[in-house]
Amino acid sequence: MTEEKWGQLRDRLLKTVGGNNYKTWIAPLEFSKIEDGVALFNVPTNFMGNYVSQNFADLILYELNSSGESVQRVAFKVAANKTARPAQSNAAVPARPASARSSAIAETLAAAPLDPRFTFDTFVVGKPNELAHAAARRVSEGGPVTFNPLVLYGGVGLGKTHLMHAIAWELRARNPELNVLYLSAEQFMYRFVQALRDRKMMDFKHLFRSVDVLMVDDVQFIAGKDSTQEEFFHTFNALVDQNKQIIISADRAPGEIKDLEDRVKSRLQCGLVVDLHPTDYELRLGILQTKVQLHQAAYPDLQIADGVLEFLAHRISTNVRVLEGALTRLFAFASLVGREIDMELTQDCLADVLRASERKITVEEIQRKVSDYYNIRLSDIIGPKRLRSYARPRQVAMYLCKQLTSRSLPEIGRRFGGRDHTTIMHGVRRIEELKVTDGQIAEDVEMLRRALEA
Ligand code: ADP
Ligand code: MG
Repeated sequence: MTEEKWGQLRDRLLKTVGGNNYKTWIAPLEFSKIEDGVALFNVPTNFMGNYVSQNFADLILYELNSSGESVQRVAFKVAANKTARPAQSNAAVPARPASARSSAIAETLAAAPLDPRFTFDTFVVGKPNELAHAAARRVSEGGPVTFNPLVLYGGVGLGKTHLMHAIAWELRARNPELNVLYLSAEQFMYRFVQALRDRKMMDFKHLFRSVDVLMVDDVQFIAGKDSTQEEFFHTFNALVDQNKQIIISADRAPGEIKDLEDRVKSRLQCGLVVDLHPTDYELRLGILQTKVQLHQAAYPDLQIADGVLEFLAHRISTNVRVLEGALTRLFAFASLVGREIDMELTQDCLADVLRASERKITVEEIQRKVSDYYNIRLSDIIGPKRLRSYARPRQVAMYLCKQLTSRSLPEIGRRFGGRDHTTIMHGVRRIEELKVTDGQIAEDVEMLRRALEA
């Protein structure tokens, strides 16, 4: 990070922490370096290092990462030559008045609003999310707490936030008295940092310990942010002790969140942990059909040609948000040009999205999947062993490489331990034949193809 960038970052910190804090705690920090994901700062005294570390480290970390640095931790060190420095040199940076505080942080402190579109009614249930949906439904009924916490995890755009909002809506509808607090882990951190800054930790603790239901979205955000994690841990325990429901979401299984403290992990794992699997074709089609109805309410004259939704569900498999965006664009475009939404319009209007979602399957990926599937080592897929139990999976892998990648036969050969292209050709043909005569092989190939294309 350059001096200049650190300068800009400090300006942002000034806005967040206010002039007094800035002058006392931030201005004296001297940026040293970023190494192995740790941003190192020199501080004049140990005391200052500790204080900044406890009170502002999370915020600094946040600013660093949002300015494009990739930092997991910040550390403070008393630089040997700095300790002798005269005290007034610390005050060299002129402080702006406290009124320069950004309103951004104030905004994040408002209760996180619930999206009125994210209800159970609009949530489409399919195989990949049925368990998560059932668990969410159960929790949303209120009643005695049976599993605590409920942890929903899964990749981006698979409906975690949607489900959490749906739970909150439902709980509130059933019991308006209930104190349901929904917020992202990032907002939790903000509130925490602000409470520290304003010396309002008692209020903070009181607020979080007096809710009936606490919902924290994207909990992976607090990984590596030590003081926030610690506070989260205490809040969590206090609520569990009072038998209050907690609902958490994360982008991966709790055990797999790097830099999340073990005690936090194990707390999360104590409840019911359910995952949202990547969408399958049927679910995507179902979601599209539901969303089309919503769009058609706004554009009653627009028609969708047969096959368009199927095409989209097949081609855009990344995440539901992208799928929705595509549909919105189609409707807007079609209404502008006054045309039916047919394949041609779809291809024109969504060329970039379609290109971006073309998934490129690699030879290595295929080799890995095939070796997993047949329970043999990757080296045996690539290596020279001629045993049938290796040779057949190897040929399956060759076949899939030919089918699913744009690699030429010699290129594939090179990636199979330098085999000749005629060997690859032979393998591909062999599997083509076997697919007709051997039901097991046909099934294996089909399963693998689906897994690779998912
Ligand atoms: P996440 O929080 O998991 O990243 P979101 O809940 O924000 O994902 O979902 C992204 C978008 O996809 C939202 O607009 C949401 O309504 C929609 N979505 C995801 N899954 C479904 C589903 N099963 N049914 C209807 N809409 C869905
Ligand atoms: Mg989300």
